[in-house]
Amino acid sequence: MTLYSATINGTMVNCATDFAVINPATRQEAGRAPNMDGGDLDHAVGAARRAFAEWSARSDKDLQSICAAVTARIEEHAEELARIITLEQGKPLNGLGSRWEMGGAVAWAGYTTGLSLPVKLLQDNAEGRVELHRKPIGVVGSITPWNFPVMIAIWHIMPALRTGNTVVVKPSPLTPLSTLRLVEIMNEVLPPGVLNVVTADDQGFNLGAAMAAHPDINKIVFTGSIATGQKVMQSAASNMKRLTLELGGNDASIVLPDADPQKIAEGLFWGAFINNGQTCAALKRLYVHETIHDAVCAALVAYASNIPVGNGMDEASILGPVQNRMQFDKLSRLVADASGRGKVLLGGAPGEGLFFPPTIIAGLSNGDPLVDEEQFGPALPVIKYSDIDDAIRMANDSPNGLGGSVWSSDISVAKTVASRMQCGSVWINKHGAIQPNAPFGGVKASGLGVEFAEEGLAEYTDIQVIFA
Ligand code: NAD
Repeated sequence: MTLYSATINGTMVNCATDFAVINPATRQEAGRAPNMDGGDLDHAVGAARRAFAEWSARSDKDLQSICAAVTARIEEHAEELARIITLEQGKPLNGLGSRWEMGGAVAWAGYTTGLSLPVKLLQDNAEGRVELHRKPIGVVGSITPWNFPVMIAIWHIMPALRTGNTVVVKPSPLTPLSTLRLVEIMNEVLPPGVLNVVTADDQGFNLGAAMAAHPDINKIVFTGSIATGQKVMQSAASNMKRLTLELGGNDASIVLPDADPQKIAEGLFWGAFINNGQTCAALKRLYVHETIHDAVCAALVAYASNIPVGNGMDEASILGPVQNRMQFDKLSRLVADASGRGKVLLGGAPGEGLFFPPTIIAGLSNGDPLVDEEQFGPALPVIKYSDIDDAIRMANDSPNGLGGSVWSSDISVAKTVASRMQCGSVWINKHGAIQPNAPFGGVKASGLGVEFAEEGLAEYTDIQVIFA
């Protein structure tokens, strides 16, 4: 089975042991990754630290042109990387799957390359000149989850490099292979040490925790669960690391009585079931007005019933398996529990291996674990409401605040409802549509800071004000 090597200081490295990465569609080995320890992490951080002096001193134009070359190289390898993502993550090549993820990765890399944070003149008069400069922070540690392994790595790495930082990236032990290959490809263009990758299986030694506590890492950008994000935040205090935390969501959608069920069914489906619901900003709670509740459910079930689920390497598959056993067991438990109280309109029972069909359950309410918990799988609870204030109260009754959506034929009414939702992004008549020129982040327990656009880029810098 292919052993993927790590890249540290521009050199391919392996270590004494490695671990298996499982293809969730076949439950066979997809490849192997190095099982690194604290010594390997020190090696990677040391390389990034040494490279920082030269990389951070480059002109803005230089950084931009190297980032453009990196983006071109990723684009050339997009199909190869998409296939590795499908093998280890399970999402299909087609649909909103791994080729789509690679399209996003290239688009974000390109857009981030084009951004810059020029010196801002705050004052220039007889009393003096005041300039705001943006300085790179140092070594950035990037810790990524298993749901969008390449796209999220790009969201972390590209703004860090673009602003003159150096990087050590650590992918999830469930999906490390695509990141190992991505970093190898990016190193064909980057100077040695600017971008390094470390991997470990999280059994015993916890590599992510070691990064969060590492004295020579200056910033952590972390995407993952709230519980792990809280641990990262505690460790980061030791040397006052800068932090960007993109954490879990439990997004609510409110369908107003004037929405057209036929028109919104497709958007609702993909809002909820993109990547099998294993998406931080997926629609997880659907609140529908009582007058159109049954029609919306019927249209959604009709749309969902035609979606082919299968091995992601099969070009006909549009949804794949659930990524891992822990996720699958949690989902099975929550769906079985909710089935006892609600009405299962579609799916509801686990399939073969790690396959779980799209599941829609009506007749539930806040307080049901399937509604309240971040279940991160292909299941959608539907909750009927009669009063809009009630719907907004239920939507906001959550520790999470990542995304939300409102569905209506009247945009101005929808915007009024949107403004009352407590979340970082609200979509109207769609859900989860992020873009590189719009800042993205959670409120409440869903995170700290934002990614994307100039606001996201600025998070990879410290401010220095020069008073002349
Ligand atoms: P996770 O928190 O279990 O793991 C995320 C990463 O943290 C992995 O690389 C893991 O190895 C590492 N890690 C584990 N323990 C650590 C520790 N003590 N210190 C530092 N790092 C540690 O999350 P996951 O299961 O891989 O991903 C799913 C979660 O990610 C969901 O909650 C989802 O909502 C969230 N997510 C959020 C966003 C967003 O943008 N807000 C995007 C994607 C996923």
